[in-house]
Amino acid sequence: MSQMTRAKFTIIDPLLPGSGRGVKFSDVAGAKEAKQEVMEFVDFLKNPDKYRTLGAKVPKGALLLGPPGCGKTLLAKAVATEGQIPFLAMNGSEFTEMIGGLGAARVRDLFKEAKKRAPCIVYIDELDAIGRQRSSGQSGFDGGSGESEQTLNQLLVEMDGIGSKEGVVLLASTNRLDILDKALLRPGRFDRHIMMDLPNQEERREIFEHHLKSIVLQKPASYYSRRMASLTLGFSGADIANVVNEAALHAARYGKKVVSALDLEYAVERVVGGTEKRSQLFEKMCMALGGRVAESLVFNRVTTGAQNDLEKVTKMAYAMVRTFGFSDAVGLVSYPEEESREFGVRPYSDNLEAVMEKEVSSLIFSAYKKTEEVLQSNMDKLKLLAEALLQKETLNYDDVKAVLGPMPHANKVLVEP
Ligand code: ADP
Repeated sequence: MSQMTRAKFTIIDPLLPGSGRGVKFSDVAGAKEAKQEVMEFVDFLKNPDKYRTLGAKVPKGALLLGPPGCGKTLLAKAVATEGQIPFLAMNGSEFTEMIGGLGAARVRDLFKEAKKRAPCIVYIDELDAIGRQRSSGQSGFDGGSGESEQTLNQLLVEMDGIGSKEGVVLLASTNRLDILDKALLRPGRFDRHIMMDLPNQEERREIFEHHLKSIVLQKPASYYSRRMASLTLGFSGADIANVVNEAALHAARYGKKVVSALDLEYAVERVVGGTEKRSQLFEKMCMALGGRVAESLVFNRVTTGAQNDLEKVTKMAYAMVRTFGFSDAVGLVSYPEEESREFGVRPYSDNLEAVMEKEVSSLIFSAYKKTEEVLQSNMDKLKLLAEALLQKETLNYDDVKAVLGPMPHANKVLVEP
């Protein structure tokens, strides 16, 4: 794959000699629907007449949405390889480091180059860095005016000037749809949204299989992937790649010739610890319980609306007790989720099962109490938010900030078990 960085942006052109293998769809494990959806864009570019003769208006861009490390960039690169078309990439934050109108000039340059290389794909990673809402007080990185507005305006102008006729489509990624300027989301601009969420258990198995292939294992990759997937609830693709690498480093540290299950399980613990997933899970339980607790505090009764949240909370509590070694009574052990047990056999005794159930109930109880405490001491804020929601139906990050003020201790874990 020929890749050059022209100081401004990265260009990958699979058609140039010596361009190598490139990222393929098979490198993006799981994400079947997302793959199909992005491939449509390649078809728009390669067979524009098929759509034009039917009078169809072809979308100009798609937003890849989802948390970091879930394969958005990987997917965008794979589209270029699979479609055999050039790929011009730039990170949103690179536009914003510019001063004196350079950000806007860079956007112009990027699209000029793209039109020269058409048909091609332009990819902007972290679109939110350039596409934040304009003129919303303190939300802009330079006060919502001047440089950043010029850059965003230029992007809107360029988007209006591309399409299947020009042979350029735009892909961009963000995890902050809520703060994007509405103009970016109007019909004819980023009106297609493709979700790349955290992988489910089966997807995690596929991602493990993929990454395990690149290290030397004691047994075939399929021997480990199912159990590893069941131990890694809430992990992103990047976390999984990290686990596999940590396992190989661990094996090497002990002079081993092959990586074994012990190395992999050690690596999960390390990545969990490293990313503070344990306390994050407890916080997430509290967040999921928020609706239920608020109903009972304010109306003194609960509705069935929170059932889905309760299911999530229960799953999280089981994962913490059974998989992440969170409970002292159960100990630092890790058992797979029910669906993935070998021959459906439970790998522990009835006694331990009873202890786990007790621990799960008490964990949910303490999350409930903690949530109650937090809401009770912030009842004024709860009321303000409820009133704002009645007026506006949905609130984005900036709206919430306007109602509640800036988040206290932004970098600290707020709720601890
Ligand atoms: P994002 O753009 O969503 O932040 P990336 O595409 O940069 O995430 O992913 C970072 C790394 O994580 C990839 O290079 C890859 O090693 C791994 N990864 C993420 N998602 C997947 C996936 N679905 N299949 C295989 N590897 C993945």
